[in-house]
Amino acid sequence: MNNNVPAGLREQLEQLKAELMQRVEKIKADIARGLDADSKEQAGQLENKDVLDALANEATQEIAEINASLRRLEAGQYGVCAKCGSDIDARRLQALPHATECINCAA
Ligand SMILES: [Zn+2]
Repeated sequence: MNNNVPAGLREQLEQLKAELMQRVEKIKADIARGLDADSKEQAGQLENKDVLDALANEATQEIAEINASLRRLEAGQYGVCAKCGSDIDARRLQALPHATECINCAA
């Protein structure tokens, strides 16, 4: 157990997750639109699609981390490093509320 869970953290994580999910939806819509484009624009569109895919993957990964953090919050393990079990620095959690590893393990 640890005492470094900031007030309103769950709301913060839920909000962040909602924003990311919206972003993923928008990116997916952009990709779908790109696939319908004229063939003469196809090359540029495909390049663009790679960028969008990367952005969507990044956001999806972040959503997974937030879900993991919410689970750890439920389990009373929030702020404890998933790898080495030591407390994650409060400043790190402030900057990255969904961090599940301490700075040493994440490095
Ligand atoms: Zn660690």
